[in-house]
Amino acid sequence: MQKKVLLLPGDGIGQEVVAAATEVMQAAAQQSGCNLEISEALIGGSAIDATGEPLPSATLAAAEQVDAVLLGGVGGPKWDDLPTHLRPEKGLLGLRQRLGLFANLRPALLSAPLASASSLKAELVADLDILIIRELTGGIYFGEPRGVEVRDNERVGFNTLVYSEHEIERIARVGFELAAKRNGKLCSVDKANVLEVSQLWREKVTALAPEYPSVELSHMYVDNAAMQLVRAPKQFDVIVTGNMFGDILSDVAAMLTGSLGMLPSASLAASGTGLYEPVHGTAPDIAGQDLANPLATILSVGMMFRYSLDLPEAADRIDNAVAKVLEQGHRTADIAAAGVDSVGCQAMGKLVLEQLVN
Ligand code: NAD
Repeated sequence: MQKKVLLLPGDGIGQEVVAAATEVMQAAAQQSGCNLEISEALIGGSAIDATGEPLPSATLAAAEQVDAVLLGGVGGPKWDDLPTHLRPEKGLLGLRQRLGLFANLRPALLSAPLASASSLKAELVADLDILIIRELTGGIYFGEPRGVEVRDNERVGFNTLVYSEHEIERIARVGFELAAKRNGKLCSVDKANVLEVSQLWREKVTALAPEYPSVELSHMYVDNAAMQLVRAPKQFDVIVTGNMFGDILSDVAAMLTGSLGMLPSASLAASGTGLYEPVHGTAPDIAGQDLANPLATILSVGMMFRYSLDLPEAADRIDNAVAKVLEQGHRTADIAAAGVDSVGCQAMGKLVLEQLVN
């Protein structure tokens, strides 16, 4: 089997975590008899430094020709004062748009040994395993009209929350399909008591349910969902929701797990290249010091094997290797309890690699 992966390490700790995760990726592919062709390109601040733009056309062209992209992160203080269209984040937004990545998958997983890192009581979050699916290319962040204009002698800001039927249907199907492969529970989150767009959302999602008899569908208003996520998060299996609600709820879910360094993500298109990246940013405060936690990126590689490379057994092996390393007590500084020894980014990558190949 032959697969192609493009590495976009980007800026700051992106370089370090992608390097550690790439070794794990190569080993897992080899174990599965998969011949991985790996290439690398520029994005974000490092692309600006080299070419003057955050998403060079060579990077876009390379991304369109692979099965999956592994991204580290973009941005940092060095590029903060550039005009908006030249900022590193534009590189990432442009890539998501060009690849048509409409489904953002953010698992919130908390292995029992790390339960004390959560801001919630350990018993509420130990062995947490929920998946938030956020619609990524529609909704209020992209709706027109938008802007700020003068009306009746004062400035008025406005945005438009819009979803068409086909946008709702395709993200809902991702929700049903993934719920069917997990524990069979799908919760669709909306604000149908107030918003017409949410009423359409609920109607369309409900209409699909008979096609997925193994999935139990429920609906929840977004304000209640935020409350339930911190009250009893383990009641959820898969949550599917729109762009803005998903943006907020996935950050709430992230905090349930206590550490940004542990959270992977995937963004999928209807077909073609998938994008895999840790949820965290480029952490300029610790960049270049071998302090970053590479586990979010390594777990993102696991998602890559599951969703883009069609090798779920390799994904399971990576997830298990990470779980074992944590069970053995190894920690990077961000997840280590006070006074406990920690390992660096490279050493953590090697520990996962050793666990994987042994
Ligand atoms: P951040 O996620 O980079 O860092 C927040 C805090 O968490 C920092 O204290 C950092 O040291 C720590 N942290 C993050 N990842 C870690 C890891 N793997 N291991 C250990 N500690 C980790 O968020 P920020 O500080 O708000 O942003 C820094 C830069 O990253 C900004 O330029 C921002 O625009 C960019 N950013 C990029 C992305 C992306 O590329 N997807 C996402 C978020 C932020």
